[in-house]
Amino acid sequence: MESKNILRYLDPGDFQKIKEFSADKETPFLVLNLNRIERKFDELKKNLPYAKIYYAVKANPNSEVIKVLADRGSNFDIATIFELNQLLDLGISAERMSYGNTIKKEKDIAYAYSKGVRLFATDSESDLNKIAKQAPGSRVFFRILCDGSGADWPLSRKFGAHLDVIFNLALRAKKLGLEPYGLSFHVGSQQRDIGQWDNAIAQCKYMFDSLSEADIELKMINIGGGFPSDYLQPSNNIEIYAREVTRFLQEDFGDNIPEIIVEPGRSVTGDSGVIVTEAVLISQKSIANHYSWLYLDIGKFGGLIETLDEAIKYPIFTETSATGDLDENDDNLKEYIIAGPTCDSMDILYENNKYKLDKNLKEGDKIYILTTGAYTTSYSAICFNGIPPLKTYVTRF
Ligand SMILES: *Cc1c(COP(=O)(O)O)cnc(C)c1O
Repeated sequence: MESKNILRYLDPGDFQKIKEFSADKETPFLVLNLNRIERKFDELKKNLPYAKIYYAVKANPNSEVIKVLADRGSNFDIATIFELNQLLDLGISAERMSYGNTIKKEKDIAYAYSKGVRLFATDSESDLNKIAKQAPGSRVFFRILCDGSGADWPLSRKFGAHLDVIFNLALRAKKLGLEPYGLSFHVGSQQRDIGQWDNAIAQCKYMFDSLSEADIELKMINIGGGFPSDYLQPSNNIEIYAREVTRFLQEDFGDNIPEIIVEPGRSVTGDSGVIVTEAVLISQKSIANHYSWLYLDIGKFGGLIETLDEAIKYPIFTETSATGDLDENDDNLKEYIIAGPTCDSMDILYENNKYKLDKNLKEGDKIYILTTGAYTTSYSAICFNGIPPLKTYVTRF
């Protein structure tokens, strides 16, 4: 049954290969398929041929991942000097990096500048002053506030500023000897409403025009991340996102589309990962319950923190049964609440959204959590309850 269903997420034969690969290994771990990462990167490049890609390192900072993307010509959006150092150690030049975090220590700006970083995001006067002091003459881009609506994992409130603040920042940047280079926004991660780019690009157009009247000619728009991975709830494919975003840009800017930067994280690495885990305990808390509790050897602290509020719903498969939109009424399935192994009661993955899985599932059986290539290993705790961080096996199939 799952061989029919799982093909939405994996190529034919891949599930079998993952099972074989996993057979002799201690769970939990993440299997990353570099071929798929390359394919997702190439797809994005093909669909947004005019855009410069800056991979958001935080989505999956695995060095093998960074290397294959670097080989394909990707640039990189870094958030900290630690990511900067990792990339420098891999031989990636600072010219290919943007310092996209709006929250920076002054000494970290100085360090990044000393290593050659010349492109910085900002959304506040204080941060701008630090950049002017420690990274003189650099290009800065200003992050516009987005509310994140329509996104499974919104990045709202914390980042960006309203247009009145942005306007003043651009004037001040020029006065301080920086180059007010462009604007950025992030419409929210796993953004399902493509119209959110329309709103944001329209704001950019308004800002380009207003600043032009003040003699500041911006040159660049960073359209952020937000492009989808394939979770339980289907999303549009990247062709449709790219086509729509391109249309919005053309509607607002006509033939004068500025330089476009895109910063994908999730959409590049998400689909390439499968977490292999094991059923530790299966139990019922009341004899009358028609569902069971299924405790895995991975949970929120092991890398699945994006299940907070059950925001991201990963496709989950067992050896024998599938969950998702198919076979809901199959007699061989039953409902499970799925939880992690740690001694914290918030470590429950799915309770409101119970998953239908094989009713004969046994402790020790392997369970496969798909679309886990992004925002898993980088979120994994280092030793809660003594559990080591999530291991990654990088492979190609
Ligand atoms: C996290 C992040 C991204 C990547 O977003 P995705 O939705 O994972 O593609 C891009 N830009 C910035 C500034 C980010 O913080």
